[in-house]
Amino acid sequence: MSQKLIVAIDGPAGSGKSTSAQLVAQRLGYVYIDSGAMYRAVTFLALKENLLDNEKALTTIANNADIQLDFINGETTVKIGKEDITDELRTIEVNQKVSDVSKIEGVRKALVKKQKEMGKQNRGIVMEGRDITTVVFPDADVKIFLTASIDERAKRRAVEYEKKGTTVSLDEIKKNIQSRDNLDSTRSVSPLTKAPDAIEIDTSKVSIEEQVNLILEQVKIAADRKGIKIKI
Ligand code: C5P
Repeated sequence: MSQKLIVAIDGPAGSGKSTSAQLVAQRLGYVYIDSGAMYRAVTFLALKENLLDNEKALTTIANNADIQLDFINGETTVKIGKEDITDELRTIEVNQKVSDVSKIEGVRKALVKKQKEMGKQNRGIVMEGRDITTVVFPDADVKIFLTASIDERAKRRAVEYEKKGTTVSLDEIKKNIQSRDNLDSTRSVSPLTKAPDAIEIDTSKVSIEEQVNLILEQVKIAADRKGIKIKI
């Protein structure tokens, strides 16, 4: 029996997934995977090649792109082959297009396959996204669904933009989040939805530390259930 756990976290943009998933992975000494970065990488490549309207080409990119995610010192670095594209993935253009790209069945199939593979290679993984608890790891040991109010989520994104020196109005951020929420939750292939057995945590009024502790409590329960010893 594997001695490590798969921790799957889903939720809409700005719900606190990335920050808490990273911290949970660090506390457990597990691998952290930001699955959204993979959809963003495909979107970035498609924008660069002007192929956004071509489903077949997008599917080929998703299948063939050598997307590598490295999580070092609390930061995810995304590379395509040797090219570091980390800073290109959070632009307004990518934000606006990523949900259109990620609703394409061929793109999802290709990336879900890669994500499942990562789960096989690294038992001991914390992966976050939109379909991790429902499609990528439906048998995950721990399933978490994070939510937060739209105002709170927009505020969090605004702080991120500010840190990077980009000025975007709160209204614009809110509109982008709402449009992505809508596209992500209504698409026909693996829409964002709470798995029936996922634990829902509303992070609107909860500190990051509390979020992390709530998730780690669930990890502890899963570890006890499986008779696995974990150090937190
Ligand atoms: O998590 P992040 O906001 O970076 O994800 C960007 C976009 O990638 C989401 O809005 C969604 O359209 C897509 N995505 C997805 N499935 C995942 C992760 C992200 O469709 N597992």
